[in-house]
Amino acid sequence: MDQLNVPKETGGSAETKDQSEEKPVRLLIVDDEEIMREFLNEVLKDEGYAIDLASSGKDALRQMNASEYDIILTDVVMPELDGLGVVAATKDLPYNPSVIVMTGYASMETAVESMKLGAADYITKPFNIDQIRIIVRNAVEERVLKARAAEGEFYKELSRKDGLTELYNHRFFHQLLETEVSRAERYDRVVSLLMIDIDDFKSYNDTRGHPSGDLALRRLAQLLKQASRNCDFVARYGGEEFAVIVPEVSADSARRMAERLLKLIDESEFEGEEVMLGGRLTISVGIATFPMQAASKSELVEHADQALYRAKGLGKNRVVVFGEERVN
Ligand code: GH3
Ligand code: MG
Ligand code: MG
Repeated sequence: MDQLNVPKETGGSAETKDQSEEKPVRLLIVDDEEIMREFLNEVLKDEGYAIDLASSGKDALRQMNASEYDIILTDVVMPELDGLGVVAATKDLPYNPSVIVMTGYASMETAVESMKLGAADYITKPFNIDQIRIIVRNAVEERVLKARAAEGEFYKELSRKDGLTELYNHRFFHQLLETEVSRAERYDRVVSLLMIDIDDFKSYNDTRGHPSGDLALRRLAQLLKQASRNCDFVARYGGEEFAVIVPEVSADSARRMAERLLKLIDESEFEGEEVMLGGRLTISVGIATFPMQAASKSELVEHADQALYRAKGLGKNRVVVFGEERVN
């Protein structure tokens, strides 16, 4: 994630050098005319940026590849590689700088073309000093906001996930189920819940060791994702228990889905599963569907759990739908 330091509106270089050791905003100024480079450097250096200068498009490319820049301020008209070429070249970089182009003839066409190529903004000559400062500041601000939003999303997602399996965690599962049951209720739809528990996992763990058990849990998580649709929600409910929320799916279809899952698990290899009774790692599944078999979210969980308990009682490695005790 980009680490950016925002130059303060009021700040000079002393302030933006910063107490918190954040990196200063790195700026590359590209112009084939030395007088322009020096002028821009002079205008922008008091903003607290770390500035490098490039004397041609090619020189810019070399520097862009040698270090990372937040902002690239480039002239459009240059021999060999021009400003548009510089904009295009940023696409191949392993980082994502914001490019501001400077166009000499107040030509909107060049500006528009550079924006199409991905430039963040443009400045037209003749320059207005304040305008240059503001446009660069805005580009920096936009990057900071984007980085913050991305970081926020990242941590939000992280807080919803279980660390071992990367499935949704228990807390978020309940939030999702609440939402899905309310939605089903409001729009007169169905939602099924699969509660899944690994059979005799304690013996697998005890014989193979906890790290192998962890690997098996991760593998199973992958299979659960594989067996469900994008719109289903797969969660780790607890230790070796999982839950899948299946919106818009009746108990019958949910049963078929669970049976496919059992088959998939049966056909998949789990390291050392020969220690298990029957030589395979297996799961039991309990299913309940709202609103047919449960009138509320909590009843849905309760009834899917009861069906799971029943599946265990009937000999494990099977699917039981709440209220329909079909013996496999
Ligand atoms: P059943 O068929 O009735 O479900 O039997 P079981 O042995 O699977 O059930 P039990 O609840 O007795 O044991 C669950 C075991 O799952 C206990 C523990 O060893 C294992 N387990 C739970 N969470 C984790 C985990 O995060 N990692 C590992 N490796 N094992 C776990
Ligand atoms: Mg178990
Ligand atoms: Mg259990």
